[in-house]
Amino acid sequence: MHAAIAGAGIMGRLLAWRLLRAGWRVSLFDRDPPEGGGAAAYTAAGMLAPWAEVESAEEAIHRLGLRALALWPELLAELGTDGDFHQRGSLVVAHAGDRADYRRFASLLAARLPGAEHCRALDGAALAALEPALAERFGEALHLPGEAWLDPLVVMSALARALRASGAVWRRAEVSRVGVGFVEAGGIRYGCDWAFDCRGLGARGEVPGLRGVRGEVIRLHAPEVELCHMVRLMHPRYRLYVVPRRGRDFVIGATQIESDDPGPITVRSALELLSALYSLHPGFAEARVTATAANCRPAFADNLPRLLAVPGLLRINGLFRHGFLLAPALAEAALARIAGAASRCEALFFEEVPA
Ligand SMILES: Cc1cc2nc3c(=O)[nH]c(=O)nc-3n(C[C@H](O)[C@H](O)[C@H](O)COP(=O)(O)OP(=O)(O)OC[C@H]3O[C@@H](n4cnc5c(N)ncnc54)[C@H](O)[C@@H]3O)c2cc1C
Repeated sequence: MHAAIAGAGIMGRLLAWRLLRAGWRVSLFDRDPPEGGGAAAYTAAGMLAPWAEVESAEEAIHRLGLRALALWPELLAELGTDGDFHQRGSLVVAHAGDRADYRRFASLLAARLPGAEHCRALDGAALAALEPALAERFGEALHLPGEAWLDPLVVMSALARALRASGAVWRRAEVSRVGVGFVEAGGIRYGCDWAFDCRGLGARGEVPGLRGVRGEVIRLHAPEVELCHMVRLMHPRYRLYVVPRRGRDFVIGATQIESDDPGPITVRSALELLSALYSLHPGFAEARVTATAANCRPAFADNLPRLLAVPGLLRINGLFRHGFLLAPALAEAALARIAGAASRCEALFFEEVPA
């Protein structure tokens, strides 16, 4: 079987990898080279946070996220990379003035996901033992021990290498149409058994209802700060998360703005993110900003992903702020659908569409 995949962001690459492993021939079409480009995947912080995301997402995202989280370690081993993957959990903190927000988060999580094991309330002593860097400014925290993170840049390169080594064909071209059994790129129509549309926001012309949700992140090097967990700071106006990287590097994110403008970070967003960051730990004052980035998350109105299927064509889109959290599970579901088998996310996310 021959698959033609339009769009080689995280969804297109992961799907290509799963199809190759299942014995398919795969051609990937992207306007960018395998080493980098404008995919939202390159801007992502790489949080795999199915528990904390329940605050703003459906429980179905949580369930699908749990499945993907279980798949990631095996996937990274297949790709021959550690992906800078760590399953050390998240800590949620708030300053004294923002305790109402913190309490609301805690009670929402408890109501939506009952059970004590996935969310532990820490007092000051327990927090100091777990993450000493936070103990100076925070007297309590919520610990979500199952959450994980990875480095999207490491994973995207590992996928590019593995796809090349396994014989995937990379065609660097602008895709103009994707239809049943074909992809049109650079003025040529390429036939295939199944066409897959994974162009994210680039599919807007053919996928009604897609919108962009702008997000901005800041990368820093902070030699004076040591964090072993992802950290979320609750705040009434803007939320902050900090994801540790190797060598005391950190990714700080992220804004969420109803806009499809992918232009550079604004002064206002940088000020808000950096002031919130500085309030987390004084050592961030001397941190060096190494990069800023902005991009648009592809999303439908309900912020849920969709697999739009008709025999010979499958469009996977609307991954919103959950591309890394969900992609392994969505790729698994896509393969099951093509094989005619039932899939875990069958009822909720699959939609049969006219060709
Ligand atoms: C600031 C920010 C932070 C984020 N943090 C996280 C996070 O912590 N965890 C998480 O799980 N998710 C996160 N995300 C979300 C994640 O990045 C997206 O959900 C994910 O990248 C969507 O994957 P995709 O493959 O559908 O689209 P993309 O990654 O955008 O890839 C689409 C690909 O299609 C190509 N393409 C598009 N149109 C065409 C065309 N016409 N012709 C040829 N090629 C085309 C593009 O070049 C690109 O390579 C974040 C996103 C942002 C912006």
